[in-house]
Amino acid sequence: MNRPVPNPGILDIAPYTPGKSPVPEPGRKVFKLSANETPFGPSPKAIAAYKHAADHLEDYPEGTSRILREAIGRAYGLDPDRIICGAGSDEVLNLLAHTYLGQGDEAISTTHGFLVYPIATMANGARNVIAAETNFTADVDAILKAVTPRTKLVWLANPNNPTGTYIPFDEVKRLRAGLPAHVLLVLDAAYCDYVSRNDYEMGIELVATSENTVMTHTFSKIHGLAALRIGWMFGPAHIIDACNRIRGPFNVSTPAMVAAIAAIEDTAHQQMSKLHTEKWRNWLTDEISKLGLKVTPSVANFVLIHFPTEKGRTADEADAYLTRRGLVLRGLKNYRLPHALRMTVGTEEANRLVVDALRDFMAGK
Ligand SMILES: *Cc1c(COP(=O)(O)O)cnc(C)c1O
Repeated sequence: MNRPVPNPGILDIAPYTPGKSPVPEPGRKVFKLSANETPFGPSPKAIAAYKHAADHLEDYPEGTSRILREAIGRAYGLDPDRIICGAGSDEVLNLLAHTYLGQGDEAISTTHGFLVYPIATMANGARNVIAAETNFTADVDAILKAVTPRTKLVWLANPNNPTGTYIPFDEVKRLRAGLPAHVLLVLDAAYCDYVSRNDYEMGIELVATSENTVMTHTFSKIHGLAALRIGWMFGPAHIIDACNRIRGPFNVSTPAMVAAIAAIEDTAHQQMSKLHTEKWRNWLTDEISKLGLKVTPSVANFVLIHFPTEKGRTADEADAYLTRRGLVLRGLKNYRLPHALRMTVGTEEANRLVVDALRDFMAGK
């Protein structure tokens, strides 16, 4: 063909379809519960730091995000030299894929795993291999069974989006122990701040004691800074070094850095958000279950609601019904969950409105 041709794999990627633009009935207040954003916004201190940074927009940022890496290091007890920051964890995940995957390689993710994983995999010419889940939860044995001589990387969001489920740290360690040493295990801890289970860990200990495991985290969720695009990774020195070689030299902006530092230091804001989320996630799970709908038990800041397939009660119809009331949830067809909707835990007002609307929907009103 006499025109530029994309690299192999690129055109096999299904284009990302963002959540629809809500068109509620006139006069309805709109609640966006479709992207797992916090209903509280960021810490006021983060907003102040961001505004302060506006005084010097002419200067390039410091290229290694040093002050942010140091703040993350203080918050989690990590060596800042083993942290890399990026424009969202999206960038970090793509850096990993670009550094470690190529033509002929395979990367494993799970049936309802985060969609960025197959995109990052295929964008680098590698094959996306899907391991079955059990009860909407990653299954370590299925992942290990999917390993072949071509496997280079395993993606695991723990807790996972959009299912809200997690696997205990013992299972993560069993996964690591069962994978060949040259296979990179990526633990995506985007929702770790919402988990309060004794058997859960974000993976720091495993990363600190291995040469082949990294963990990623984000400022987009509990810190409420999704608009600024800030994520990070903690990893072995040799992986940080390799990724730094292809990272854009000024990939995190100064306003983003200073806002993130203020956010991570405001532990009271995080605690408030965590308590609210826990309380209302449990309330939503109970109340929605009482309506005769199945809700997958979640440890994150969202719930997965399953709908029947009978006409008048489907996820599609519920989605349209809720949207008319200004309640915007997330349809999950591209996550292989055509009969489910994902709802982000919102304000008390939003949560109550959703349950009221679902009650009317199920009653055929
Ligand atoms: C929201 C989310 C992220 C965060 O992505 P950013 O690019 O940092 O905004 C990462 N992983 C998962 C599984 C998520 O749901």
